[in-house]
Amino acid sequence: MKPYLREKSAFSFEEIPEKTCFEAGYLVTKNSGWRRARPVIDKDKCVMCLQCYLYCPDGVISESDNNICIDYDFCKGCGICGKICKAGAIKMEAEV
Ligand code: SF4
Ligand code: SF4
Repeated sequence: MKPYLREKSAFSFEEIPEKTCFEAGYLVTKNSGWRRARPVIDKDKCVMCLQCYLYCPDGVISESDNNICIDYDFCKGCGICGKICKAGAIKMEAEV
């Protein structure tokens, strides 16, 4: 398993984990029930800057096959990723 960025002072793109922090055992209880809105990524707008990954407080954003992925089982819907995305690629959509 790849190391997680918060434990490192510098990183390269290849070091971005392929799994969420849940996979590393840091998150053990699903918290998606808290969520009023979920972040949805517009892949056409995403420039892969990885700022959303770095700022997500729960570590539920990862990269796979050059796409940003969100683990909705553990995303609590705080919206930080949407605020930090300068490309406007993340919109918060109300849960139904
Ligand atoms: S912050 Fe926005 S543009 Fe950057 S990787 Fe995340 S979704 Fe893509
Ligand atoms: S809404 Fe919050 S918890 Fe969910 S992916 Fe974005 S920053 Fe992470």
